Amino acid sequence: MSTVPPASAFGAPAPPAGDVHAAFLRRGDAHQVYARDITAPEAPLFYLGRGRADEVRAYTRAYLQCPYPDCPAPELTTAGGSAVRDHFRHLPGSNVRHQREGINHFTAKHQLARWVRTQAPDAVVHVDDIVLENGRHPDVYAIVGGNRIVFEIQYSPLKWPEMRKRRAAYDRIGVTFVWVFGHTGAFCQPVAATSPEQQATALTIDRALWEAAYNAMPLLWINPFEELIATAAFTPSEVRKLMAWGQGLRQVNIDICTLDECRLEFRDRTDISASWAWNAEHGWPTAGDIAPYLTGLITPAARKVSAEADARLTAIRQQRADEAAAEAAAEDAARRQELPYQNWLGEKAKLEERYGPLPAMVLDNASRRFTVRGVAKEHWMAALLEIFDQVVGDQVSETWIRSQLGSRFGWPAGMVTVTDWYPLIQYLRDLRDDGWVDLPSTTSLLDGDHITVLASLRRPPSPPTNSDPSQVERQRTPPA
Ligand SMILES: [Zn+2]
Repeated sequence: MSTVPPASAFGAPAPPAGDVHAAFLRRGDAHQVYARDITAPEAPLFYLGRGRADEVRAYTRAYLQCPYPDCPAPELTTAGGSAVRDHFRHLPGSNVRHQREGINHFTAKHQLARWVRTQAPDAVVHVDDIVLENGRHPDVYAIVGGNRIVFEIQYSPLKWPEMRKRRAAYDRIGVTFVWVFGHTGAFCQPVAATSPEQQATALTIDRALWEAAYNAMPLLWINPFEELIATAAFTPSEVRKLMAWGQGLRQVNIDICTLDECRLEFRDRTDISASWAWNAEHGWPTAGDIAPYLTGLITPAARKVSAEADARLTAIRQQRADEAAAEAAAEDAARRQELPYQNWLGEKAKLEERYGPLPAMVLDNASRRFTVRGVAKEHWMAALLEIFDQVVGDQVSETWIRSQLGSRFGWPAGMVTVTDWYPLIQYLRDLRDDGWVDLPSTTSLLDGDHITVLASLRRPPSPPTNSDPSQVERQRTPPA
């Protein structure tokens, strides 16, 4: 047999000559670059790398055949030269000429499949020969470790509702979905350059592309013969236009890279839904809205957009958190000027005389106001922990706790309102988390004597080993 190496050993293609935009948008003939090796009919198709036409011609004539279904004369030879990319050709006189659209689509599928195998040598890759559990028949399907991914290549026109339906069908079964538009036809209309010296570097954004981008689908195109990928490179102001209905965004610049520069990566799906939920809650403030679906085929341009968008999202989240914290601090400062807190200060001094420094569970519990019937939260929380002195080791009911607090503060017995009840339940849960009480996890707190008291103001819970021992000592040894 021949010494021609297998297709996978051909490695990265030579970069295309000349301007990459011109190379990407070149409307040359759609050449065949894949063939079936009859010595290994089940193997991935044989790929004809650049500049290899002469080298593999003899092997081609002996062992390679046209891979198109129902080809009437599948025998092939190779052709190439300086002006044309190396390719397979049917034998002279056979008069076989496959449809250009078919060759584009076929080649794009096999290039993406080959790229997946290069990126993940252990991947199981299917081209056009599998139906998934959602009834869909993807162009390219791959299982990569614990991830599944589908590539759809789109040369022919398609409206957004149909695209959305397909994406949803794969989202539903947890399959990463990557849409790649073709380098000719409906989805790849170059915007004419403004002067003859300039190359076209932008594509027209029609309604379907606009809706796809608006719905957070990264816009990617493939030129399978040049092995190039184009990424829509939206500027922040273009994203704002994109997100504002009715404001025309008619074109977008494309960033070109080789397929070889792209990386197969999977973004955590929970991360995606988190960003998505955040977007749904807060509207569409940044280019980060495009980022959540940047998974699967990551171009260098997409990675840059994604990183910038993530940084913006992080900054916005931080700003919102800072604002919330400042608001809570201001609210607490105001609370401390009010009568309930001033009353508490008198009680606090007495308790500190009796027990030493008070625990954080009294002084620093939650940011909520939790003033109950004119009693500051520190006040009733400290009272509760003092009441626990009588019942450490016992089980008590929520009703008993409320009646004890009621007699301490002169609240009318038996009067229960949600505003009393809710802070108490919250506080009991915090006390449980800190080891002061044990609570049933499955039954209602209102259902009998279910609260086991483990500690009290006089006998606080055993401290974690990393706490300050001198502090604990003072708490445990009240002054005489
Ligand atoms: Zn053929």
